[in-house]
Amino acid sequence: MADLRIGILEGDDIGHEIVPASVRIARAAAAAEGLAIDWVEVPIGRRALDTHGHTMPEGTLDTLRGLDGWILGPIGHQAYPKVPEAINPHPILRKQFDLFANVRPTRSFPGIGAIHEDIDLVIVRENNEGFQPDRNVVAGSGEFRPTEDVSMSVRVITREGSQKVVRAALDLARARKKRLTLVHKNTVFKLGCGLFVESAYQVAQEYPDIAVDEVIVDTMAMRLVRDPQSFDVVVTTNMFGDILTDEAAGLVGGLGMAPGLCIGRGAIAMAQATHGSAPDIAGKGIANPYAMIESTRMMLDWLGRKRDVPAAVAVAERMRRGIEAALADPATRTPDIKGTGSQSDMVDGIVNGMENAHAQA
Ligand code: ATP
Repeated sequence: MADLRIGILEGDDIGHEIVPASVRIARAAAAAEGLAIDWVEVPIGRRALDTHGHTMPEGTLDTLRGLDGWILGPIGHQAYPKVPEAINPHPILRKQFDLFANVRPTRSFPGIGAIHEDIDLVIVRENNEGFQPDRNVVAGSGEFRPTEDVSMSVRVITREGSQKVVRAALDLARARKKRLTLVHKNTVFKLGCGLFVESAYQVAQEYPDIAVDEVIVDTMAMRLVRDPQSFDVVVTTNMFGDILTDEAAGLVGGLGMAPGLCIGRGAIAMAQATHGSAPDIAGKGIANPYAMIESTRMMLDWLGRKRDVPAAVAVAERMRRGIEAALADPATRTPDIKGTGSQSDMVDGIVNGMENAHAQA
């Protein structure tokens, strides 16, 4: 019996490089810690369209239902042919498995071109409602054009959706510095953001040990640049979170440094980097694998704690040491983060770093 069953969904473009790299590292760490992982390859994306006739083939969701978690590579859906079989699988996955919280950490490492050297914050983004028209309604789209010259976008904020994501953020805050910042704009969106804030304070009553404060989103955009060190856990609605997490990535070296974990109410997790499929650099061996590897590491750590599998937490810790060792040396970093190495140099550096760190421990 495997300790964990984990899916591998490569996605598109650089996904075919960074997902196998993440699996290689997780496999090596799991072997060293005695964690038995059953790896299950699941078709998705452009290649699945060619082989199975659909970017989200029949059976993919059923297979995922039998897993504890999965690694989802970036999806390049903008380049899909315009046929009904070529859909963007993201919103379906997040909705089907009620993965309502997208946990996106931002951390600076020395020498990689971070704008500040001491950033360590996490933005928790609501994942399934808000302004995103591909997931905020059960049928049709949250966007429509009633006349040739008028378009309308509907933003959905619910008490339940807000409470769920804020609860996830409060749990995270409890495991960190016991501080949570709500980001919104209730000065203008009195009903939408107003409901988000009202719901957040209702849930926060159950967490008297967590200090909660608020920042208006435009001020947050400015403060992230000037004093990101003053934040620890931040929670916000879908689109504000989408924008702020890319901004935060820019502070610490760019999109290659932006990992993410999608979680929900159950004990299922989806590792998904913040960045897209970067077709411009696919196949060149230079895509930074950090975001995908760190997302995978976060997933194993989270599953290990949720499902009480201590070896998975040990695997995540081993991976952390390897990642930190590789990031400390320009020869084992990709060019986007002031490195002189290739993607495979970085992956080798992480594998070696995991072994060396263990030998020294
Ligand atoms: P999406 O809307 O799907 O998130 P996007 O428009 O944000 O996609 P990305 O594919 O994320 O675009 O990439 C934007 C640019 O950032 C890429 O063209 C690439 O140069 C750079 N980039 C993204 N990911 C990485 C990475 N892992 N390593 C290095 N550079 C990256």
